[in-house]
Amino acid sequence: MKCKGRCISEKLQLLRDHIKNIPGWRSNRKIVVFAVDDYGNVRVDSKAARERMNKAGLEIKSRFDAFDSLENEEDLSVLFETLSSVKDMDGRHPIFTALTVVANIDFESQRNSQSYKYELLPDTFTKLGYDKAWHLWQQGIQNGLLYPQFHGREHLNIKVLESNLSNSEYSTRIALANRSYTSIRNEFFPKLSYTAAFALDDLSEIDRQHQIIESGLDYFQQIFGFRSETFNPPGGREHSDLHSTLYKFGIKYIETPFIKNEHQGNDRYRRMINYTGKKNDQGQTFLVRNCLFEPGSDNSIDWVAYCLKQMEVAFRWGKPAIISSHRVNFCGNIDPNNRKVGLLALKALLAEIVTRWPEVEFKTTNELGNLVNSRRQ
Ligand SMILES: [Zn+2]
Repeated sequence: MKCKGRCISEKLQLLRDHIKNIPGWRSNRKIVVFAVDDYGNVRVDSKAARERMNKAGLEIKSRFDAFDSLENEEDLSVLFETLSSVKDMDGRHPIFTALTVVANIDFESQRNSQSYKYELLPDTFTKLGYDKAWHLWQQGIQNGLLYPQFHGREHLNIKVLESNLSNSEYSTRIALANRSYTSIRNEFFPKLSYTAAFALDDLSEIDRQHQIIESGLDYFQQIFGFRSETFNPPGGREHSDLHSTLYKFGIKYIETPFIKNEHQGNDRYRRMINYTGKKNDQGQTFLVRNCLFEPGSDNSIDWVAYCLKQMEVAFRWGKPAIISSHRVNFCGNIDPNNRKVGLLALKALLAEIVTRWPEVEFKTTNELGNLVNSRRQ
């Protein structure tokens, strides 16, 4: 019986994989994009911080609560080694489009304030003594292994944070005291995820979100020396009204799920269907991730086989394979075994990709977006 249920859900998943690949831009080329969220984000400070939070009763409800820590020197060096293990038909290595946040909570200033205080990403690396990791970041960009794009200014919902601060909420106080923002209870706005930066309780909050995007995109340029062209919001589901500000400050490509339930405030949502190549009224192009690779989650799944199957379906419909993943799969700061599992799976996936499709082309989200807009195939 158990297998029967599972077989049916696998078939339904396969059907969904086919359906989401039907509409949109097509090409016979075998294009592979890795879109990896959460770079730059401080969620759990360290193993010691996690242990102190456990002792204080803060629950681990996800692998993000357990392992999602700022990328350190070893995380990046072993990741780059793995990405360098294969080449595409043009002699290019796979490249992670690293959807990156440019700010984190300034934990020192936050101690004495009920309004949100933040610091810019390079300061976070310096404060944590991660200068070598930040140097590796620059090397990764130079060597074509890592390409930062805009995930958001910060990976948190400011309304939830500030309401918890003004109520002196316990889990928030404990997490912040441990230079972390994880395992947070959210009793005041339970419909909003505390990590979803653009979730809306009320439409009136949208003005602040426009400002967050404007300043975030300017900080991105200040930090990386170029403007971001792709955006994928933390927690997704941003209101379309924000697209005008994204456009004004350089965003050409917006990542979105195939079916998006967009926040409208007051617990109302607007459902829309998206596909790669669809344009909004600003002329921005949507990119829909159609393959999933999360080797650190559910270990009953063979993630390499699962991802390859989704790629096969994508290619059958003439679609690029846009592989969705998260940094947490490759984080070893809290548990090196977590990183090991993720990178072993990545290495196996890459080896299989270049064997099955020797004509593969590894690209960034921007390169794919440019190709889609050029109407070339
Ligand atoms: Zn994220």
